[in-house]
Amino acid sequence: MKHRRLFIGSIVLIPIGITLIIIGDALAPFGVVGHTEWFFIFPYTAYEKTWVYYLALGLSTVGLITIIGGISGMIMSLILEVMARRERPVTEMIYCPYCGIGNVKDAAYCKKCGKKIS
Ligand SMILES: [Zn+2]
Repeated sequence: MKHRRLFIGSIVLIPIGITLIIIGDALAPFGVVGHTEWFFIFPYTAYEKTWVYYLALGLSTVGLITIIGGISGMIMSLILEVMARRERPVTEMIYCPYCGIGNVKDAAYCKKCGKKIS
């Protein structure tokens, strides 16, 4: 697997993103004054918000983006892998001196006119 590094790197991003969201969620209650309700990813609806609330919101948002990045990276590495498998090595050609058509490198006779070419 050619793109293993990209795949593993992408998988690692997902728990990092989840951790950031959990930290953001845990922090958010300390950033609000008044009414609060539980949230996941996007912080509380509150009457008054302090800088801690915005820090929590930032952490949650970065966490969400990190998870999306991780999933995208995984998908991308799989697409690249499929594309790499489909790629065929370019075969070297030799051209027939009689009719000019391209033949595979070690062909003894021209595939079009049948004359000996090597
Ligand atoms: Zn030929």
